[in-house]
Amino acid sequence: MNRVHNFSAGPAILPVEVLKKATEGLLEYKNKGRSIAEMSHRSPEYEAIDQQAKSRLTELLGLGDDFKIMFLQGGASSQFMMAPYNFLREDQTADYIDTGRWSNKAIKEAKLFGNVHRPYSSSDSGYDRVPENHELDLSDDPVYVHFTSNNTVAGTQFPSEPETDGVPLVCDASSDFLSRPIDASRYGIIYAGAQKNVGPAGVTIVIIRKDFLNRANTENVPTILQYQTHTEKIFNTPPAFNVYMVNLVLGWIQDKGGLAHFKQYNEEKAGLLYDEIDKDDFYRGAVEKDSRSIMNATFRLPSEELEQQFLEEAEEHDLYTLKGHRSVGGIRASMYNACPRESVETLVNFMDDFRAQNG
Ligand code: PMP
Repeated sequence: MNRVHNFSAGPAILPVEVLKKATEGLLEYKNKGRSIAEMSHRSPEYEAIDQQAKSRLTELLGLGDDFKIMFLQGGASSQFMMAPYNFLREDQTADYIDTGRWSNKAIKEAKLFGNVHRPYSSSDSGYDRVPENHELDLSDDPVYVHFTSNNTVAGTQFPSEPETDGVPLVCDASSDFLSRPIDASRYGIIYAGAQKNVGPAGVTIVIIRKDFLNRANTENVPTILQYQTHTEKIFNTPPAFNVYMVNLVLGWIQDKGGLAHFKQYNEEKAGLLYDEIDKDDFYRGAVEKDSRSIMNATFRLPSEELEQQFLEEAEEHDLYTLKGHRSVGGIRASMYNACPRESVETLVNFMDDFRAQNG
């Protein structure tokens, strides 16, 4: 097996150990003569997986008894609609911090249901930063404050939760979920597509605080789009094999030392890369230093021609999927939990050589 250095922004690299176990599980699960993809989601086997995944998430994130966890479909994009559908009425206002492409998509959906106030936007400077708390201009009585904890396209990340005077946070954590500890008590909802840090695409993890859930609007909301429907029980057929893989990844995260371990590991990896970028002005970081993401590092070279050459030569060194998002160009290296330090070291060595030859 020749695994490349995979810097994909998502679907992203998964731990080899997990892929190996999942391969076995795809053929046969626990001597049951069939795989988890071939069993009822009401079977004791699947229910045990669902429960274990939920208790592992509870433990990793320090959720206590205050939260319900759901494994849904439709991607983080469907949460852009589902959160306001459940929580934002026509005469109410929700605050949406606008830090990039994904925040914008969330705002567009929320506007279908109620008023949206932007307490901050970095759109004028090309989404090159996230706000400091004193820059947030919150509305008088928002039902929640939505933020994108890590901006996958721009390469920015909130260093910690924004301050909201007690208003619950609704967070699109798609691209930094489980990459570091969080202060769970600040959140009403945390949602994330699995395909960056926790598994293959197809399952969306949604975590909701029970007292926040009690405020949900159920009138005229279709059954499948109500959070209550999914917190009571497994409502309809879940993406069972995906949840099985998520559960394997969660076990792997625990075995490695949990979120404190990954915070340190991810910061070290990102540190290696940003140090290389900052060595001189051949590479240029695409965003403000204080806002840099430890998950997705974005940078530019002196010309687009050199960027193209960089991407081509990188592949000759097994360094893959480093092209920036099509809307912004440049280079993007995504270094999620499962991205090994050796991959980042190989990238940094390549960048050094590339500079020496073309600088
Ligand atoms: N939010 C963020 C921060 C993302 O990075 C992405 C996917 N790249 C999405 C939302 C959309 O996720 P999905 O494709 O699962 O709907």
